[in-house]
Amino acid sequence: RGQETLLRTEGLTLRFGGITALREIDVEVSVAEIVGVIGPNGAGKTTLFDSIAGMIRPSEGRIWLDGREITRDPAHRRARAGIRRTFQRQQPIGWLSVEDNALAALEGRGGGGGFWADLLGLPSRRRIERARREQVMGALEVCGLVGEARRPAAELSIGQARRMELARAIVDRPRLLLLDEPTSGLEEAEVEIFAATIEALRAATGCSILLVEHDVPFVMSASDRVLVMQEGRVIGSGTPAEVAADPVVRAAYLGA
Ligand code: ATP
Repeated sequence: RGQETLLRTEGLTLRFGGITALREIDVEVSVAEIVGVIGPNGAGKTTLFDSIAGMIRPSEGRIWLDGREITRDPAHRRARAGIRRTFQRQQPIGWLSVEDNALAALEGRGGGGGFWADLLGLPSRRRIERARREQVMGALEVCGLVGEARRPAAELSIGQARRMELARAIVDRPRLLLLDEPTSGLEEAEVEIFAATIEALRAATGCSILLVEHDVPFVMSASDRVLVMQEGRVIGSGTPAEVAADPVVRAAYLGA
């Protein structure tokens, strides 16, 4: 699936003083592809995300989105180009409804077409409002949260809250979603729902997903392709089956 490349990095290297967090990372993610990233603590997974999202600049190497180089673009420009990153700890606004939390995320990014609509003087305020609500409800639907739309976010289960974070991230239809440990702390049944949700998201929107997670069985089941990082390098990559059978990966990481 997805032969068209969305994201590409070449020779991405990042040093923090004496520590080299990333060493010559070459990554490719196709359109509508789900790529998992696993590796022990300190392998460089979060740093890879930060450098793709533009929170930090690589010391060396280049990054392209859709064939356009973004190596020097600040984070907000990359966000506008469709890169969205989630974080390990998120704080929803507990007293706001699920729907309004998603709406707040959309408005925080100037989404919903309001800017252009206003500029062109086209649709009425009410039409803009309705379009925004539709976008929000579309995101909640993909995330299985339509039934919770009116509930205060504080009342959600952990699994639902994680899916609400996903809804907040996808409400303006990103092209590349970087998910940082989205299932940590979830129970197995909730992890399965989350995996089904990102599959549904990919099917519905064609967005690409890069996924960092310590839960190896989850990554193996949710990803089309897996990258294994260790000490700032990609030491193995391939389909989940290939990676699971790779002797280098097994020796270094899977401990088998
Ligand atoms: P974890 O699974 O624990 O989240 P990780 O694979 O995400 O680990 P990173 O957080 O990317 O690993 O860290 C990679 C290396 O870079 C580590 O040695 C870390 O100590 C170092 N590092 C990360 N951020 C900084 C920073 N801001 N300043 C200095 N060193 C850093």
